[in-house]
Amino acid sequence: LASKQAAAVLTIIGGVFYLVGSVVGSIITALASDLTSLSSGFNPSNPGASSIPSISSIPNLSSSFSLAVLGFGALCGAVIIVGGALINSDNAGWRKGGGILALAAMVIGAVPDVGGLLIGFILILVGGILGLTYKPNEPDIRIGIVQAPQASSTMNSGSGTYCIKCGKQLHEGALFCKYCGSPVPQ
Ligand SMILES: [Zn+2]
Repeated sequence: LASKQAAAVLTIIGGVFYLVGSVVGSIITALASDLTSLSSGFNPSNPGASSIPSISSIPNLSSSFSLAVLGFGALCGAVIIVGGALINSDNAGWRKGGGILALAAMVIGAVPDVGGLLIGFILILVGGILGLTYKPNEPDIRIGIVQAPQASSTMNSGSGTYCIKCGKQLHEGALFCKYCGSPVPQ
């Protein structure tokens, strides 16, 4: 059942989980920085003085950081979905590129996307590897490469050069006949 369609679908669903993960990741980032700004804002010795700058400056930084997490995480999810679509291609090069793209974005986006809530990570890992290792059953470019040397070898034996003196078959590129020693005209 290891078809490229299945690999593509697994990767694309994994990419969607990464998109969801990017939202979760940005919320976690915002909550975590809110907690740190609250705890750092509270100064037991002088509560009034230190709480004012922390409220005005830190929330701005934290919201832009959680936005960056959201943006980068969403970008990784989008790249995974594109990679998944490429895995479904009939072109072996596109399939390989799509698999590499999805797996690379899976690793890079693992932290901001909270590993696609783990489900996405597993789906992309399986889908990406299936896409990379997929070999089509139908005649492909591979068979053309295998048949090419066979065709050329039969051509050589059929139209190979023969010694002009003794008539024995000569090796390809031979300068002298190995049977009678006469020079081979090049
Ligand atoms: Zn000869």
